[in-house]
Amino acid sequence: MLKRVFFFAQHFLLPHLKWLIATLITGFIASAASGMGVPLLVKFVFPVVFFHGVGEEPELLQMVPSLKELEPGTLLLLACASMPIIFAIRGFAMWANSVLVNYLGIRILTRLRMQMFSRVQALPMAFIEGRQKGDIISRILADTTNVQSILTHVANDLVKQPVTCICALSAFIWLLVDSGQGLLFFINMIFVALAAWPIIVFGKRISNKARRAQEGLGELNSIVQQNLETQREVRAYAMEERQIADFDSSSHKLCRNLLKLVKYQRALIPVMEVVTAVALTFLLVRGRMCGMTLTDFVAVAAALFFTFDSMKRAGTAFNHLNQAQGSLVRLEEILVEPDTMPDPEKPTALPQRVRGDITFDNVSFAYENGKTVLRDINVHIPAGQIVGLVGPSGAGKTTFACLIPRFYDVTQGSISVDGVDIRRVLKHDLREQLSLVGQQALLFSGSIRENIALGRPDATDEDVQRAADSAAVSTFLESQPQGMDTMLGQGGTGLSGGQRQRVAIARAFVKDAPILILDEATASLDAESERDIQQELDALAQGRTTLIVAHRFSTLRNAHRILVFEAGRIVGDGSHEELYASCPLYKELYDRQGIN
Ligand code: ADP
Repeated sequence: MLKRVFFFAQHFLLPHLKWLIATLITGFIASAASGMGVPLLVKFVFPVVFFHGVGEEPELLQMVPSLKELEPGTLLLLACASMPIIFAIRGFAMWANSVLVNYLGIRILTRLRMQMFSRVQALPMAFIEGRQKGDIISRILADTTNVQSILTHVANDLVKQPVTCICALSAFIWLLVDSGQGLLFFINMIFVALAAWPIIVFGKRISNKARRAQEGLGELNSIVQQNLETQREVRAYAMEERQIADFDSSSHKLCRNLLKLVKYQRALIPVMEVVTAVALTFLLVRGRMCGMTLTDFVAVAAALFFTFDSMKRAGTAFNHLNQAQGSLVRLEEILVEPDTMPDPEKPTALPQRVRGDITFDNVSFAYENGKTVLRDINVHIPAGQIVGLVGPSGAGKTTFACLIPRFYDVTQGSISVDGVDIRRVLKHDLREQLSLVGQQALLFSGSIRENIALGRPDATDEDVQRAADSAAVSTFLESQPQGMDTMLGQGGTGLSGGQRQRVAIARAFVKDAPILILDEATASLDAESERDIQQELDALAQGRTTLIVAHRFSTLRNAHRILVFEAGRIVGDGSHEELYASCPLYKELYDRQGIN
C-alpha cells in the first residue's frame, strides 16, 4: 500500500508542496496545542489559580521565580487568560489547517481528474473498447472523488494525530516520571500497544471491501449508462423489467459490500474507547493506591486521554487510507496502463498536406481477443483514387479502414501514407490528414455551426457556410429555429438521421483532408435520404483518396476500384465490370442486391 500511496503523493501532493508545508505547520500547531496544552495547563497553571498563599508553592512559581514578582491580580489574570489563549491558538490553527487541507484536496482532485481524462484520450482504442464505459466514467468521477475526500482526511489526520499522540505521550511520560510512577507508565504502554491492534486488523478488511464497493459502483454506472443509450431498444423489446432486475441485483450487491465496509469501519471507535476506559480506570485505581493528588491525576488522565484519542483518530484515518486503496488501484489501472501505441520518439514530419498515397504491405491484424481479422493484405491505393470496400458482414472492411488513422496497430507488416510508415509519424499529424464519416453521425452538444467547425477549429464563418452549402445543410437550416446557431442535444437530437449525416459531411468538407473514409455513411438512412446525400458524398470524395465501406452497391457508382473482402482476405481487386466477370463472391453479392 505504501508504494501506491507514495506514487500518488509524488504525482499529486508534491506539485503542491508549498500548500502541503503550510498544512503540516498549522496541523502541527493545532496538535501540539491539544496534546500538550491541556495536560500542562491542568498540571502547572490551574494550581497557580487556586493558590491562596498558604501551603506548598505551585510548581510553576518554583520553576519561574520571576512570576512571583508580578502583582497577584496580574498573575491571576495571566493564569486565567492562558486557557482561552491556548484554545484560540488551537482554534485558529485548526481552522487554517481545515481550509488548507480542503484547498489541497480540491487541487488534487482537479489534477487527478484531468490526468485521468487526458490519459483516457491517449490510451489505445482497444483499452476503451475492452471496458464498460460506465466503469471508466465511475473511475474518472467517483474514484477520484473518493481518493480526494480520503486524501483530505488522511493528509490532515495522518500528520496531526500522530503529532498529537507524541505530544500527549511525552506529557504523559513526563508527568508520571515527575511524580515517580514509572511502573504505571509501562503498564499503560501495554494498553497503547493493545489499542493499535484493531487498527491493523480492521485495516486489511476495509481495503478489500472498499475495492469491491467501488467495483460495484462502476458496474451500476455501466448499467445506467447502457440503459440510457439504448432506451429505444429497451422499450421496443419491453426489456424494462429485466433492466430493473439487473439494476436491482447489482444495487443489492453494492449495498451488501457497503454494509460490510461500514461494519468494519465503525467497529474501531467503540473498541478503542473500551481500551481507553480500561486504561483510565487502571490509572484511577493505581493513582489512588499510590496517593496521587487530584491535580496530578487529572493532568496524567488528560495526557492519557489525548494519547488514546489521537490514536483512535489516526486509526480512523488509516482505515480511510485503506478504503482509498480500492479506488487508488482502479485509478492506477488507467494512470499507469502502458500505452501500447505510443508516438515515436523521433517522429517523421508529414507535409502540410499529404498526397494521400496509401500502401498496405503484408498486413495482418488481430484484435486484443486474439482473433485474426485481416490476413496478408498487400494493397497500393494511389493518391486520389476512390476505392470501394465490399464483402460479407464481418469480413474485415471496417477494420481495414480503421487501421489507416491508426486506431489500432497492425500485428504484422506495415501501412504507409506517401511512403512513410504511419507508426513513424505523430498520431495527431496523421489524423489531421484524414476525415471520417461513419454510419451514425456523432454530433456533440453545441450549435450546428460549432459541430461543423469541429473539423477545423480555425475555420472562418465563410468556410463553415461554404461547407454547409456543399453538404446541403443549408437546405434544412431554414426550418431550424436559429439557423446555424440552433443548439443540438448530445448525439444531435433535434435532427433527422439524414440531417445529422449532412452536418457530418459538412464537417469533413471544412476539414478538407486529403484522405477520406466513408464507413457505411448512408447505411442508416432510407433510400430517399441516401439518394439525396449521395450527391454531396460524391462531391466530397472528389480529389481525395477515398475509401468507401459499402453497404449498398449504389454508393459505389463513382468508385475507380473495388476491393472484395472475405474472411479477412482480399479476394477481388478491380473495376465493377472486371470483378463482375471474374470474382464469384462479388457477382453473388451484387446480384443479391438486385440494383442498378
Ligand atoms: P465488416 O466491416 O466487414 O463488417 P469488421 O471489420 O467490422 O467487419 O469486423 C471484422 C471482425 O472483427 C468481425 O469478426 C468482428 O466481430 C471483429 N471485430 C470488429 N471490431 C472489433 C473490436 N473492436 N474488438 C474485437 N473484435 C472486433
